[in-house]
Amino acid sequence: MTIQVHDTRKGRKVPFEPLHDGEVTMYLCGPTVYNYAHIGNARPAVVFDLLARVLRRSYKLTFARNITDIDDKINAASIETGKPIDEITAKYIKAYNDDMAAIGVQRPDIEPRATQHVAEMISMIGELIDKGFAYEAEGHVLFDVASYKGYGELSKRDLREMIAGSRVEVAPYKRAAQDFVLWKPSTPELPGWDSPWGRGRPGWHIECSAMAAKHLGRTIDIHGGGLDLVFPHHENELAQSCCAHDGADFARYWMHNGFLSMDHEKMSKSLGNVVLVHELIKTVPGEVIRLALLSAHYRQPLDWSTETLKSAKRQLDRLYGAIRGIDVSDEARANAEVPEALVAALEDDLNSPKAMSEFFGLAKTLNKTTDPKQRQQLAAAMLAAGDLMGFLQTDPEAWFAGHVEGELSADDIEALIAKRDAARAARDFAAADAVRDQLSEAGIQIEDGASGTTWRRID
Ligand code: AMP
Ligand code: ZN
Repeated sequence: MTIQVHDTRKGRKVPFEPLHDGEVTMYLCGPTVYNYAHIGNARPAVVFDLLARVLRRSYKLTFARNITDIDDKINAASIETGKPIDEITAKYIKAYNDDMAAIGVQRPDIEPRATQHVAEMISMIGELIDKGFAYEAEGHVLFDVASYKGYGELSKRDLREMIAGSRVEVAPYKRAAQDFVLWKPSTPELPGWDSPWGRGRPGWHIECSAMAAKHLGRTIDIHGGGLDLVFPHHENELAQSCCAHDGADFARYWMHNGFLSMDHEKMSKSLGNVVLVHELIKTVPGEVIRLALLSAHYRQPLDWSTETLKSAKRQLDRLYGAIRGIDVSDEARANAEVPEALVAALEDDLNSPKAMSEFFGLAKTLNKTTDPKQRQQLAAAMLAAGDLMGFLQTDPEAWFAGHVEGELSADDIEALIAKRDAARAARDFAAADAVRDQLSEAGIQIEDGASGTTWRRID
């Protein structure tokens, strides 16, 4: 099946065809490293990690995710804390990589850092000036938006409307309000690099254009990021790259993930309503966070709550419960294939909810199967699906032994039921009721039947 992706520029789902046969290049705007990543920031990391895993099945993928380590927010953090910039960025780059690894995000092939590509940025800015798309004014270099006819194509904005609607006070060195900074001067206490326009630093947009060109070439296949990056960041990247490269298409497909919100408000550092991955992984298994992030289709909004996590935990318990106790031989593991329907769901614009329902279908079939050989094959298929999606990476026994604060594991529940049975057998009904209450408070409902006590989690 051909992979289908939703292209923001076209506004619809289209068949994916890379520029070069068999090879794919993908660029994802990565973190600005002045703070820990929140789970909203983790959404693009997880979504594009899954896309990378799917693409690697069919193509030789080169995946770059940059690190923005030149940014005014980083400078502000340095001034505020009195810590050197390098110390701040080194700390948060490490934290980002550790936190993303904990939620199953594989390292991209290339992780370019802005600070290591300033020469490429200066050269690209020089080209834009030479070709008449940028101008220098008072130590700044600005992109002349009016000089690029395609401006607004990605974000579907009309330049004239933008000009009319612009209420920001226009800086005196700008020819027009919509012109954006490629280079700006640095005062002595700020980081700066020597350039033909004096000591200064690059604007954010040119960082990505220069790094993408250096590592992936003039035309990349897929460019990704969160929806908030469409405008102005990606619109500006597109304008710069296209103009510097004589009209060569910058990205063949643009893919954007929807927002993660909390209480229906976008999660963002500036609003202060953030849940940091760094904190969450102390009490919640990484796979639970990963599944919660993939529980909605990547283009849909995802409202985050404790229920999102609880539901993901229950679902993973079901998957682990199905393969528990089955000894999968190396041979069965090596021969296992990810079920076609699951792959097809992912190749259809990364439909992770559909892929998960295929995954649960597999677990259900396994639970109903009694033939040991078939059970082993089904378990092997589940493990293969887990390898593709980043789940079932823990030994099932270790999974159920892991204690998550606030939630009873299946083992804990079975132990409590056994305790209640013992109390009832000893006619200590007060003790038996106390156990029932304890379970009920933890959200577990039990039912006594002819063949013993069963339990289920209630919402
Ligand atoms: P930043 O470090 O703020 O530049 O953001 C890194 C990535 O996270 C970008 O791709 C953003 O679009 C994305 N992002 C930020 N907040 C959210 C959110 N609440 N939901 C989904 N993606 C987000
Ligand atoms: Zn970018």
